[in-house]
Amino acid sequence: MKTVISARDVEELIRKGGDLSSLPADAVYTPSARDLLRDSGGPVGRSGTVAGTGAGPSPSKSVSASSSSADLERFFNSPEMTALKQKICEIGQRLWQRAYVDGNGGNIAIRVADDLALCTPTLISKGFMKPEDMCLVDLEGNQKAGIKKRTSEILMHLQIMKAQPKAKATVHCHPPYATGFAVAGVEPPSCMIPEIEVFIGKVPIAPYRTPGTPEMGHLVAELVDKHNTVLMANHGVVSWSHNDVEDAYFKMEILEAYCRTVLVAAQLGQPMKTFSPSQLQDLLKIKQTLGIPDPRIGLKECELCDNAEWRPGVTCALPERGATGESPSVAPDPSTEALVQAITDQILSGAR
Ligand SMILES: [Zn+2]
Repeated sequence: MKTVISARDVEELIRKGGDLSSLPADAVYTPSARDLLRDSGGPVGRSGTVAGTGAGPSPSKSVSASSSSADLERFFNSPEMTALKQKICEIGQRLWQRAYVDGNGGNIAIRVADDLALCTPTLISKGFMKPEDMCLVDLEGNQKAGIKKRTSEILMHLQIMKAQPKAKATVHCHPPYATGFAVAGVEPPSCMIPEIEVFIGKVPIAPYRTPGTPEMGHLVAELVDKHNTVLMANHGVVSWSHNDVEDAYFKMEILEAYCRTVLVAAQLGQPMKTFSPSQLQDLLKIKQTLGIPDPRIGLKECELCDNAEWRPGVTCALPERGATGESPSVAPDPSTEALVQAITDQILSGAR
């Protein structure tokens, strides 16, 4: 059985001058213990999480957008905010090192109070940011603290946070393979790799609008009740996490690796195979236990792996067995093949 740590336990440890980082990482922390740990500036783990909670720090209840500027400034410079600023810089470096951002592209935001978010500034490479570059904004995008001007794309992040109350952090970048799908207007197919099904699910495409406009944010925000990662047509990708900023970043790695793998598979000269709808159902069960929503949970088996764009003509009917007795779910899908080949050709010809 797991140890339960209450606020009284934490107070006792602080009173005795004990080390907060000595608290067990696998314990269950009560909400008031979590608040106390956060207010005490630790222990904040590898992914900016309060130890043992399995989730990122809860947005602060002590400040809001209407707090005095002195209070906001104090909050902005607190140890807790400094840790999150450092985490944003680290995620920025990882985005840049993996070539998910180019020039000054990409932006990152973390919800730090019900109506406040910490975010990256405008006109800076995400690979070379410093904690003091970060900005504090309210959910309308008004800057509340920070020397540099906030990113112009913050409106989209804030619209996601307003539309999806569970969104604790958002990441936007331009990874080339996933962005290639967004340029071709093709939603990545499903039932090919377990990782993306469990941690992301289907990835829709929001129509193109000028970056930074409220309309762009609106079109993305419309999709975030059902999807944690969205392709933005002719632009890039945005993801949100109910945990923390590292988890939002992981969605980028997972999606980009997936899009790259699909394109590699499409060029190997062999029919691409999918796993079966019942196998997807097993993955969705795992997803449910992880608390990650997916609109496909509860769908009939025959409705899974049914992607009209990749498998045109597939209808929700009992699977038929071919002459060879081979299950259609693992059989090569000629329409998928043709489409993947067409996209591959399109992308390759564009690269020349
Ligand atoms: Zn962008």
